[in-house]
Order: sequence, then C-alpha cells, then structure tokens
Amino acid sequence: MLPTVALVGRPNVGKSTLFNALTRSRDALVHDQPGVTRDRNYGVCRLDPERPFVVIDTGGIAGNEEGLAGATARQARAGAEEADLVLFVVDGREGPSALDDEILKWLRKAARPTLLVVNKVDGIDTQTALNEFARYGFTEVVPIAASHRSGIDELLEDVWPRLPQAGQGEELDQDPERVRVAFVGRPNVGKSTLVNRILGEERMIASDVPGTTRDSISVDLDRDGRKYRLIDTAGLRRRAKVEEAIEKFSVVKTLQAIEQCQVAVLMLDATEGVTDQDATVLGAVLDAGRGLVIAINKWDGLTTYQREQAEALLARKLSFVEWAQEVRISALHGSGLRELFRAIHRAHDSATRVLGTSEVTKALEAAYTANPPPVVRGHVPKLRFAHPGPTNPPTFIVHGTRLKTLSETYRRYLENFFRKRFKLVGTPVRFVFKEGE
Ligand code: GDP
Ligand code: GDP
Repeated sequence: MLPTVALVGRPNVGKSTLFNALTRSRDALVHDQPGVTRDRNYGVCRLDPERPFVVIDTGGIAGNEEGLAGATARQARAGAEEADLVLFVVDGREGPSALDDEILKWLRKAARPTLLVVNKVDGIDTQTALNEFARYGFTEVVPIAASHRSGIDELLEDVWPRLPQAGQGEELDQDPERVRVAFVGRPNVGKSTLVNRILGEERMIASDVPGTTRDSISVDLDRDGRKYRLIDTAGLRRRAKVEEAIEKFSVVKTLQAIEQCQVAVLMLDATEGVTDQDATVLGAVLDAGRGLVIAINKWDGLTTYQREQAEALLARKLSFVEWAQEVRISALHGSGLRELFRAIHRAHDSATRVLGTSEVTKALEAAYTANPPPVVRGHVPKLRFAHPGPTNPPTFIVHGTRLKTLSETYRRYLENFFRKRFKLVGTPVRFVFKEGE
C-alpha cells in the first residue's frame, strides 16, 4: 500500500500551500490540459518515481457545521486516523494559538506518528519561532516556508524514513508476468459491475491474492492466454462497500491503485459524459504516467441519437489524450470485454517496451531532418543524440543545446513522431531534455 501523510492544522497556517508544494507535478504539461483537473485535497508526492506517497490536506475536506473549532478538530482526527504520518502544521509568525492546543490534544489521542512543521519562517528568526512551540514537546521540529518552497527537501528527508516502506508485507509487485490493471473512476460508473462480470465469466481461474487485507483486495485473472492482476479498487470490494464508501476513503484507494498498476482503465458513464471528477481521476493517471484505456460504460442504455451525442462530446473532451484507446462497453451485458482486454495488453506492451539506444537516436535524427526546430532569436536549438530512459511510461532522454528554447509545438511534434515510429499506443510518453555539448 502507498503510505499516506495527512496535513493537519488550523485554517490559514499554510496547509494548502504546502500541499501544492508537495504534490504539484513536475510534468506541468499534464495540468495545462483543459480536460484535466487536480484534486484539491488528495495528491501524490513523488520524491522520485520509486518513492511516492499520498498527501491529504485535511483542511479542505469537511464543512464547518459545528463551528470552526469543532470542524477543525474533527478533520484533524479523521486525517490523523487515516494516515501513516501526520504533519501538524503551525504558523511560525503567529506562534501557538488556542486552536493549535486543541488540535494537539486530538492528535495525542489519535496517537499517530506526528511531525511538527513550523511554517512561514521566511524573513523571521527561525530559532525564535521554533522556541515558541517548544512546550508542545516534539523532539523534532521542521521549519519551512511553504510559499517559498524553502525547507521542503529537508522536510521530505524527515518524512520518508518515518513511512512504512512500500511493498512491505505486500507481494503485489512480485509477479512480473502479470499485467497489473486498475479499474478506476468515480462512484457509480460501473466498476463493481464490470469486475464482477469479468470474474464471473472466469470464476474457475480467478483467485483472491493471498496476503491482502480486508481493505485491499487484488485478484489474479488468466484470460485469453494472458495473465493479469486486478489491483484493488472500490469495485473489488464486492457488495460490502456501502458503509465503507466514504468518498474520501475511495480517493486514497484510487490514487494507490493507480500508483500500483501498469495500466489504468478509466471508466466513464456514457450517459453522463466527462465530469469534473472523471477529469481528476484522469489527471492522476497522467501524473503517474500509467498506461491508459478509456472504457465508456453503459453504452447499452443509449438510443442511436444519444450515442451520436455522446460520441461528439467524448471526442471533444478527450481530444488531448487521443493516444489512449477508447472502448465502448456494457458491464451489465458483458459486451466489449474482448476489445477492452485487447486494449489493455496493447497499452501494457507499449508502456513497458524496451527500446535500444541506436533506434532512439535514429528516431531523433529522422525527426530533426524531417522538421528541424525553428530559429529562436538568431539561434537554432540543437538536438544531438537521444537514448531511452525508464519505461512505464516510455521516457526519451534528448541531449543537445539551447533546448530550453524548444517550443511547445516542437515538443509535441517530437512526441508524435516518436509515438508513430515506435507504435506507442495507450501510454503517455515523456521527454527529458539535457543541455550540454
Ligand atoms: P490553509 O488554510 O492552512 O490551507 O492555509 P493556506 O495555504 O491557504 O495559506 C494561508 C495564507 O498563508 C496564504 O495567504 C498563504 O499565501 C500564506 N502562506 C502560506 N505559506 C506561507 C509561507 O511560507 N510564508 C508566508 N509568509 N506566508 C505563507
Ligand atoms: P461503481 O460504483 O463504479 O462500482 O458502480 P456499480 O458497478 O455499483 O454500478 C452503478 C450502477 O450502474 C448500478 O446500478 C449498475 O447496475 C449500473 N450499471 C453498471 N454497468 C452498467 C451498464 O453497462 N449498463 C447499464 N445500463 N447500467 C449499468
């Protein structure tokens, strides 16, 4: 399971600023897309691709029906109970307040590992600010200025060793033969129906993966000669989900499932189009760089006219992920499943393909020859050579000079050229540009 860190603190101490500093994707492109939104309360922080964890901003979650103090305390408690580590965020300029004292009491009761984070130490004496909170009794206190991104690296160094190491007590990643698939989507799109339909058909060979807990169920599936592992999602928790389906809980599950899978199947409801929540899940898949298949469900319930309407809407809303395969399915009737699995393994093959250095460099030369980058202020960016980086998503490392001046249009040209050349379907593609002679 992906470790979880909760940001807890009274309003205005800088939790959402810290949340953004931790979770904002380095791949800024992803979130410049009109079809993608970010979840304001849940995100993934990646120290590097191998060290992700979920961040929850408890400040944005609950309403304040019972007044500010009550609501904050409740959020603090909920966040604390869910998390592997709590970051108790306080304001270094204002010093401790009564509300901070209140939250601290809740945190002590929750008895979760907690770090004290003193924010807004920019332009003030850090030691004085820390001393103000000495009576809280934390042995380790981390000063930061979230809005300046200062102290964040030090904070992360303190956070990571305190998290349960991913994979510990889990065997999810230990079967390299299996394609790890997660069915993700907002509530009611038909995830449980689909998973039950798939497993129902294949009941003889489906088995629960041992060692997974009540909250986390993964299932192995052999189908058409291929091996899959369906990663835990709300949909796998069969019918017991009703009371468990607290929305915030399933967001964390969704983020975790996306992180653990190689291919995410984003389920949409054809009768509802693409909602904001769908766009948020899509953003999480792109952020994580996973393979993507879009399954448009409930196709059975539409008239011909409605189908035409739905097609037009989807084409418009999903135009920026046109590399992803779309499959029209009916989980209820079990139609479209063969196409769905074909798309899944095609995405997996593309996402995990290992390419050689010479074919990648040749591709760069061909792209350059066919269409060299335009002159920028009298200089031409030079693309010298390229080699493959990590897979899932396929990554291309391009070396050259003045690469910063490469236009967005040219970057997209390169991406499309490489996609076509290597027949990469159903996976994001990343480019890393390295400056140097
Ligand atoms: P939240 O209510 O705890 O989520 O707090 P916000 O993140 O919304 O921040 C509250 C205010 O504090 C905003 O005006 C931020 O710009 C400001 N703020 C956040 N971090 C810092 C910081 O490191 N230094 C300073 N000076 N201001 C900050
Ligand atoms: P989940 O919350 O994503 O797991 O969604 P469920 O599987 O619980 O489905 C939500 C509702 O949509 C249920 O009433 C299903 O019967 C219905 N549903 C699911 N798939 C289909 C489908 O392919 N066609 C139609 N018409 N209804 C469906």
